[in-house]
Amino acid sequence: MKQALAFVCSVLLLCLCAGCSPSAPEAVASDPAAEVLPEAPASPQEALPEEAGAEPVLPPGAGLPDSEFTGENGNPTEPPALAQPETPQADPSRTKKLVVLDPGHQSRANTSQEPVGPGASEQKMKVSGGTQGVATGIPEYDMVLTVSLQLRDELESRGYEVLMVRETNDVDLSNRERAEIANEAGADVFLRIHANGSDDRSVSGAMTLCPTAGSPYPIGGLYPQCRLLADCVLDEFTSMTGARKERVWETDTMSGLNWCRVPVTLIEMGYMSNPDEDRKLNDPAYQALMVQGIANGVDQYFARQGQ
Ligand SMILES: [Zn+2]
Repeated sequence: MKQALAFVCSVLLLCLCAGCSPSAPEAVASDPAAEVLPEAPASPQEALPEEAGAEPVLPPGAGLPDSEFTGENGNPTEPPALAQPETPQADPSRTKKLVVLDPGHQSRANTSQEPVGPGASEQKMKVSGGTQGVATGIPEYDMVLTVSLQLRDELESRGYEVLMVRETNDVDLSNRERAEIANEAGADVFLRIHANGSDDRSVSGAMTLCPTAGSPYPIGGLYPQCRLLADCVLDEFTSMTGARKERVWETDTMSGLNWCRVPVTLIEMGYMSNPDEDRKLNDPAYQALMVQGIANGVDQYFARQGQ
């Protein structure tokens, strides 16, 4: 029963995402790891928002090697020169731990395709538009940026160095590009901040995602770190917010995880398809709790890493 549900969920996940294109399911179905998913998310949409929200645009100052940089409206001063392959790798002189934050999605989806992982023949949409609050009408990309900016400040106050993948909604960054920003910066931790959506408005709760131990991509070699990070963030998040704890979903279907070469987790902070949870996710007091919970999870990760 659980297996069957997982299969259904894994298929549904691909198409529920608000920004998901009809081609997404194929991409997933062909994913080498898709069939071996240990478990599916509690609800069908969980995984979708992520890939659906993939991200193709260059954030100002992101330093992506790729140059689809078009001098985006908001930031004509960011020269393509930033997009050099020589972006600082783990800086040996750095004394602080570096946390790279990726607020999921962006104001406009990029439906072009990119490989789901290094060497993969399967393609997925670069970035989807994400989900949207059923009660507030606020888009996921907007809410997660609001929370991420607060999280940046909190992490910096705790002594971390923080690099934002994007600080505005008007960017065009694919999920692969976002992962590469974290790779090139030599992130000690890469956090992808998302919210979920489901056809069932009663579904609520938070989950984190990480690659499987058997991932066909290089990130599989960092499974222990990714799993620990996913556990720490989910435990501390749900403890602080009181949100229902869904699960850590191990999956190799997400481009934004597959392209990583640094410890990564993606958190789905709650369901914007649930009216009550949507209101919470957009409430400043609750956002402060989410920020504390995630930051506590990062602290826990580094505290337990050496154990
Ligand atoms: Zn999302």
